[in-house]
Amino acid sequence: MLAKETHFAPHAITEPRLLKVISVEEFIEKGLAVCAGDACLSDLLVWLPSDMLLQNPHLLSLPVAGFITPGTLPEGAQSAPLHLHSPSDQQVVQPGDVIALTPSSTLVRVLYRRGSDSNLLFMTDRCNSLCLMCSQPPKDIDDRWHIEENLRLIDLMDAGEENLGISGGEPTLYRDGLLEILAKCKAVLPEKSIHVLSNGRLFKDPSWIAALSSLGHPQLSWGIPLYADNAADHDHVVQAAGAYSETLQGLYNLARAKQIIEIRVVLSRLTAPRLPELAHYVFRNLPFVRHVALMGIESTGLARKHHEALWIDPLDYQEPLSQAAWFLFNRGVPVSIYNLPLCLIPPHLSRFARQSISDWKNLFIDACQQCAAIDSCSGFFKSHTDRWQSRGIHPLSTVAYEAYARSAL
Ligand code: SF4
Repeated sequence: MLAKETHFAPHAITEPRLLKVISVEEFIEKGLAVCAGDACLSDLLVWLPSDMLLQNPHLLSLPVAGFITPGTLPEGAQSAPLHLHSPSDQQVVQPGDVIALTPSSTLVRVLYRRGSDSNLLFMTDRCNSLCLMCSQPPKDIDDRWHIEENLRLIDLMDAGEENLGISGGEPTLYRDGLLEILAKCKAVLPEKSIHVLSNGRLFKDPSWIAALSSLGHPQLSWGIPLYADNAADHDHVVQAAGAYSETLQGLYNLARAKQIIEIRVVLSRLTAPRLPELAHYVFRNLPFVRHVALMGIESTGLARKHHEALWIDPLDYQEPLSQAAWFLFNRGVPVSIYNLPLCLIPPHLSRFARQSISDWKNLFIDACQQCAAIDSCSGFFKSHTDRWQSRGIHPLSTVAYEAYARSAL
């Protein structure tokens, strides 16, 4: 698990900044072309290890925003007015990353990590639902500043094929900002596929159809949660009356706009028992759905508060999970199981299991260290605690793991 933030020695900046970290070699070879979009030299932070700094102090005269030394500053070395050094964790920031600096703070946040498939544009803390298991409880604030930050971040990313997520809160609450960001992704990052997580409710407004159709992003998909085959159960999970109806209208409007749609189901005591019925519902009523993700719960945020209502040992929902997964698969609907350790599912479900947890919040506990499946398993969220641990967690032997590997073929 590689963290997304760490502390550096104090820096002298007076306003929030996004900066692209670039090695000297890349600076010479590519210059500003290292950034996918518009950038200038003052957007660059040159990577200057201690030995290079000592041998080439003249590099400090480069006309860039500043420098970053991934260790302590050597005795007698010069430094620049903006010179990050002495990180708490030397691994967190690397060349190619885009980092955020805040005045009067030693905290450095990595907003884009080179080569990672877990990069995310965070849109807002606001949401129009209040899901019982929300991992990031919504805040009633005006945080439109995320729009400008994301537009700038897009410019500073690498071009390339990694996936890029867009999430919140509920990203569609800032409709114009979201559409602007999607258009910019298409123009500046055409090789990246974009996956937006949304509760889908605001798409009930049919004006989205024209907006998304004219956007015409070829690699844009939407992950929309649907928690039941009936309104009462879904609305209870998301704690919003009328949400089920709105989400269904939204799904149909997205389909009219020819969008790529994934249905997401978080598995809990409330949703697991009727998974087979939900799978039937999706197959019969939402034939345009391209993928169904059946997802283990993340034990953080509001989920902790609602532990009693939500917790069910995954061992106890294997039957409905199997029925739902195979029902969809046998009818040609791609299906995945996210966030569930391999040792909790039978081998015949391993073909659906994905290593789905973002690298920066993925954890393997002590039991995993002797397990033959550790390189193929989703493991746990870093928020994992004993209270959320299944009685079935156990290391797999090489022989046992081979049965999973064979079934996954
Ligand atoms: S014990 Fe093995 S299969 Fe179970 S969670 Fe750990 S790595 Fe995964």
